Amino acid sequence: MTAWNAELDGGRLLADELAGKFPDARGRFGPFGGRYVPETLIPALERLAAGVHEHLHREDFRRELELELASWVGRPTALTHARTLSRRWRAAVWLKREDLAHTGAHKINNAVGQAILARRLGAKRIVAETGAGQHGVATAAACARIGLPCTVYMGEVDMQRQAPNVGRMKLLGATVVPVVNGDRTLRAAIDEALRDWVSDPLGTYYLLGSAVGPHPYPYLVRELQAVIGREARAQMLARAANLPDAVVACVGGGSNAIGLFHAFLADRQVEILGIEAGGRGTGLGENAASISFGRPGVLQGSYSLLLQDEAGQIQETHSVSAGLDYPGVGPEHALLRAAGRVRYESASDGEALEAVKECCESEGILPALESAHALAGAKRWAQANPGRRILVGLSGRGDKDMPTLQATLIAQLDQERGR
Ligand SMILES: *Cc1c(COP(=O)(O)O)cnc(C)c1O
Repeated sequence: MTAWNAELDGGRLLADELAGKFPDARGRFGPFGGRYVPETLIPALERLAAGVHEHLHREDFRRELELELASWVGRPTALTHARTLSRRWRAAVWLKREDLAHTGAHKINNAVGQAILARRLGAKRIVAETGAGQHGVATAAACARIGLPCTVYMGEVDMQRQAPNVGRMKLLGATVVPVVNGDRTLRAAIDEALRDWVSDPLGTYYLLGSAVGPHPYPYLVRELQAVIGREARAQMLARAANLPDAVVACVGGGSNAIGLFHAFLADRQVEILGIEAGGRGTGLGENAASISFGRPGVLQGSYSLLLQDEAGQIQETHSVSAGLDYPGVGPEHALLRAAGRVRYESASDGEALEAVKECCESEGILPALESAHALAGAKRWAQANPGRRILVGLSGRGDKDMPTLQATLIAQLDQERGR
């Protein structure tokens, strides 16, 4: 047993240690994380880690980032007291409104931060991958703003499914390259982006979109998204005169969740809840709940929990929300779950759709289908903990989900109203 496991078993890994001491010098979150990549990528990752170390917490970098966040992204985002949901769920419900951030979700916090970093590291161009297209749009926008050319790799299948986002990226000046290899979706797109990066690791910067991948990405993305929780914690203290009793966010790769959670990890009285995509059932291939149903393994350069079969083959996943439809999860979440600091549950497609409807009708806010998973988890918690305070990370807005909503909720509404 490693010293780390002994600490965990003895319950001696304290909440404030979780908030402060990971990743370690090797990029590990306890047993998770690290760098499981081909030899050719190691120098590029080491250079990036050194660049992150040098720039990320420097005063001039902070100042430039804060100015972009305030004047271009629209931060701080609002904290909204959800009056009607509070009444219906018999709890005090607060929403952290990342749906109000530029391009409609939290992803821009990371994209603009890494674009600024890339320019400081002397990169001449940015490459990125995208699945549903949201990270591609955020990256294209950030690159236009910061003044770097941008190439986005996207699976051919995803390009057909997410045509409006492909158009957005093109308008924002990005070159979108269709990936026709492999599964022609996100995983193949990541491989292509990495190949591009390795062919010119000095001039090219690889802008990864969630708290996943090899070190230093999970750390870098967490630090750039942690602004969500820092703001929300201060806003709760100012507006509710108290910390929340619980904090909840949806978990795909885990970036909006770790960004919200981080400021609360050391507050031991605050319960923390991550909600994964429960899809249409518990069987393999029916969901995208990597923590609830996954086992440890290596995916895209990092050791974490992932959905795999007996032979270790990565499983197909399903979720009504494209942004949660991913077979892995960031290594810090695997640690937080192992340490018992965060509880992970799932919400089904049906529960998420129901939560979209309830949030729309109650609060006049159309949440992203991803964020609706957090709302569904919050509702469950609120009903089990009457009269208490819960803070929900509303990671994005639902405008992008109109095709799915049209075929489900809206068709149902039309039917009920006899049209
Ligand atoms: C991409 C996305 C997610 C999932 O990504 P994380 O890295 O888990 O945050 C969640 N919500 C929205 C709105 C997204 O666009």
